[in-house]
Amino acid sequence: MAGFSFPLTFVPNYTVVGRGYHALRKSKKETHLHKGVDLMAEVGTPVFAVADGIVVDGPFLFAWQYNPPSHAIVVKHGPVTVLYGEIQLEGAKVTGDSVLQGEKIAAVARTGTGSMLHIQVYKGRYVKGKEIDPTPYLNVWRTNLPKEDDAGPRFERDRPDYTSARR
Ligand SMILES: [Zn+2]
Repeated sequence: MAGFSFPLTFVPNYTVVGRGYHALRKSKKETHLHKGVDLMAEVGTPVFAVADGIVVDGPFLFAWQYNPPSHAIVVKHGPVTVLYGEIQLEGAKVTGDSVLQGEKIAAVARTGTGSMLHIQVYKGRYVKGKEIDPTPYLNVWRTNLPKEDDAGPRFERDRPDYTSARR
């Protein structure tokens, strides 16, 4: 995962209780463990590819209880596959698209519980149920923040003081 970057231009506190991996989720019908990590962000916040890759699934419905519902895409980034969830359908990359690291691939959707980017991580290819803890990955990726400017989103890996200025 060396060389990967963070999916947002800023780093929210993703270790908040209830937003982390395997946090307990209870509803009237069922209880389950959170399959990913939530990065709290304003509606419309751009989401950037964490590495070069190809969209292998989506956009598909992710949280359909909201109006409009939120969606997700799955992107294979070499040895790591990432599900980007709670995103807007509009503007999202679609299956078959190639993406570049730092390229805008989606925007955060409106949801009922506070808007966020939901990240799920898979070793190798995307297999439902085979999620692993994204936290150690995010802890590395956060040292590489993408940059959005007037020329459009791009990744500024060569700007040495950028990360320290934003943290
Ligand atoms: Zn989540």
